[in-house]
Amino acid sequence: MLPEQAAKLDNQDPLRNFRNQFVINDPSVVYLDGNSLGRLPKSTVRLMEEIVTDQWGNELISSWNKHWYQKSIQLGDKIAKIIGADPGEVIVSDSTSVNLYKLAFAAVTYQKPRRKIISDSFNFPSDLYIFQGLKQAFSESLEIELIRSQDEITISNEQVCSAIDQKTALISLSHVAFKSAFMYDMKYVTGLAHDAGAMALWDLSHSVGAVPIRLNEWNVDMAVGCTYKYLNGGPGAPAFLYVRKDLQEKLHSPIQGWFGAANPFDFSLDFHASPGIRGFLTGTPPVLSLSGIEPGLDVILKAGMENIREKSILQTAYFIDLWREKLLPLGFSLKSPLPTDQRGSHVSIAHPEAFRIVKALIDPSILGYSVVPDFREPDNIRFGIAPLYNSFEEIVLAVQKLAYIMQHRAHEQYSLEKENVT
Ligand SMILES: *Cc1c(COP(=O)(O)O)cnc(C)c1O
Repeated sequence: MLPEQAAKLDNQDPLRNFRNQFVINDPSVVYLDGNSLGRLPKSTVRLMEEIVTDQWGNELISSWNKHWYQKSIQLGDKIAKIIGADPGEVIVSDSTSVNLYKLAFAAVTYQKPRRKIISDSFNFPSDLYIFQGLKQAFSESLEIELIRSQDEITISNEQVCSAIDQKTALISLSHVAFKSAFMYDMKYVTGLAHDAGAMALWDLSHSVGAVPIRLNEWNVDMAVGCTYKYLNGGPGAPAFLYVRKDLQEKLHSPIQGWFGAANPFDFSLDFHASPGIRGFLTGTPPVLSLSGIEPGLDVILKAGMENIREKSILQTAYFIDLWREKLLPLGFSLKSPLPTDQRGSHVSIAHPEAFRIVKALIDPSILGYSVVPDFREPDNIRFGIAPLYNSFEEIVLAVQKLAYIMQHRAHEQYSLEKENVT
């Protein structure tokens, strides 16, 4: 592991200047957690100042017409460019979990009498909780079947194929698994669903902004996703949802609020859904957080998803090469797929002492710098690589610190006490 090699890779990197578009005040922090909370774009700072001071402070309610009312749809159209959809097919609204509920409910209702939802054992737990709640809403008549991973890293197309049957209403999976980074072949799996008369609803939270997605080309029915991870939209920024154009009049949101009504300001006593994607809105959006999403999207569109993916593959592969050379001998196992076409933009490794090792990684008093990954139960350390701002040098620094910690048993001084957010 020659640091010179990383320097060379950084020099050759066509995206290297994008790092300057982000607020990075402390160069001693190696931030490898962009898949949990993306960094702050510099232009977001200026925009938020303007929104608070001018739009809210000075223009007050007139800002609804001037700036805010169309924001959910305008930003949806921008996200559409990133995920291969058409304008009018994506809207920003609510959280990913709530959007999943709305779309899964709509799909299961539409697919009556089919009554089975298929997901997998390493989907994001919130998604599974949503399906469990849905089962209650449908008076237990829904069946939820989870495809189990054999190795906790991958799920094969054959497993998906044998799970789908004529009772299946919906298959709903994360495109990229939050723990292992396993990536499904979305086009192929969507095709399997359609062949059996089922619909496909994808959670793009761990793939949007990290891997190219072509929802239209792959004939995807529905999708949801986060904006605060690789899209760098800010903590708690609202999520997005996609419904393919020809399905928009067939699917109905179960949470009918005035923002999803055709004419909210008629104050009609009866709900009439807005045509198009707007019918999937519910209530007033969090305008500050919503508006703050835009600069992150602009950076991604400028860099280009293909370029981002190319660098991401190089970086995750580099990390895995270093793992094999430096970390495997120290007891770390790889928990992400090796084939690049099955891997998103993070890499997971496992160690029985993972929790305390992460504490040592974050502690800047060891080696004079902090490395910020995620700990994921029970023994996973997840390194999110955001090609827009992560360098190859940062990957070397992370691996060097891991090796140092193990060689000096530096993790043993930390307690096993956990905080609210890990
Ligand atoms: C981060 C993430 C979520 C988050 O959902 P919210 O409701 O927006 O908090 C959902 N699904 C997946 C796959 C995620 O990675």
